[in-house]
Amino acid sequence: MTTPVAKPGNPSAFEIARDLIRCASVTPRDEGALDVVARVLGGAGFKVERVRFSAPGTPDIDNLYARIGDGGPCLMFAGHTDVVPAGDASAWRFDPFSGVTADGMLWGRGAVDMKGGLAASLAAAIAHVAEHGTPRGSIAFLVTGDEEGPAVNGTVKLLEWARERGEHFDHCILGEPTNPHALGDMIKIGRRGSLTGRLVVHGKQGHVGYPHLAENPIDPMMRILTALKSAPLDAGTAHFEPSNLEVTTVDVGNPATNVIAGAARATFNIRFNDLWTPDALRAEITARVTGAAGAARVDLTFDSTNAVAFLTSPGPFVDAVASAVEAETGRRPVLSTSGGTSDARFIQAFCPVVEFGLVGATMHAVDERCAIADLGTLAAIYGRVISAYFA
Ligand SMILES: [Zn+2]
Repeated sequence: MTTPVAKPGNPSAFEIARDLIRCASVTPRDEGALDVVARVLGGAGFKVERVRFSAPGTPDIDNLYARIGDGGPCLMFAGHTDVVPAGDASAWRFDPFSGVTADGMLWGRGAVDMKGGLAASLAAAIAHVAEHGTPRGSIAFLVTGDEEGPAVNGTVKLLEWARERGEHFDHCILGEPTNPHALGDMIKIGRRGSLTGRLVVHGKQGHVGYPHLAENPIDPMMRILTALKSAPLDAGTAHFEPSNLEVTTVDVGNPATNVIAGAARATFNIRFNDLWTPDALRAEITARVTGAAGAARVDLTFDSTNAVAFLTSPGPFVDAVASAVEAETGRRPVLSTSGGTSDARFIQAFCPVVEFGLVGATMHAVDERCAIADLGTLAAIYGRVISAYFA
């Protein structure tokens, strides 16, 4: 069912993925990974630019932008070449940065998250250009080395940099691993937002036997946490699960059994759907805390967040990706908004974005690996999307 994408002279998705894995590009290091991308795209006629960003307190990061074609529409592929650390390398079956093949799999850190997905998009794009020439429109690549790290000098700045130069994107595919079990399971058409809040309840330290002389901060803390948890934030939407608040820690740090502590602290994180903006959510949480606190002295603060909820509404573009997946795998993918955040949260402010990549079962794990056959199938899927897009 898979149409071979690699043509003589064009590197295959497997070859590109293997070359990328052999660069130990643990954030913020690059170790030649973007050179691999630049070589592949430059050889196919893309105009390739390297962009380096820096910010106080964060490491400098290499990024890459490439484009072929001048006009619209512009289909952009986004991705990252950085990877999380291997951890204990001796726990791996093979050296995590050797790109070994065994049992029909390509092994190594980044195989699925997401050097494999990036390699498949590169192979698909250069094969399309080799066969059809410069597209009627444009294909762009936006590749960062700062997705797994602070994500300060990566996609956010690269998008702004592109906008300042007048670049316009119509649609984006981000090749993060989206399939839980098998290629074709799932397309992500949105992501929940994330907001972290911190509570400090101030009491008055004292003797357990003389509670009237003290103020126990744990009592109001329990009331507040109950108020935060008891009423649902919403009932969910057609494409999103209900927003969820989880208390991630409650700390008093009191080793004594005969002392009422002076303060209690708690942290919570909310994964929210597109019924909420961070501002609206902060207001709702503040109202609940204030209502439950009574006379207690409470500090409520929120960590700054750039993780807003977004949805790419089902329509022709989502259909085109889903149909390409079905044509190559025989399976109609579920349209999902589950899981953590990704760089799609930044891209969605510029153009509709859909995420589809490899099977994510081993991402960030020991013995990360992908099926070699899946790399070819994924490249064929991307190739179908490109062909349909410029037909
Ligand atoms: Zn990733």
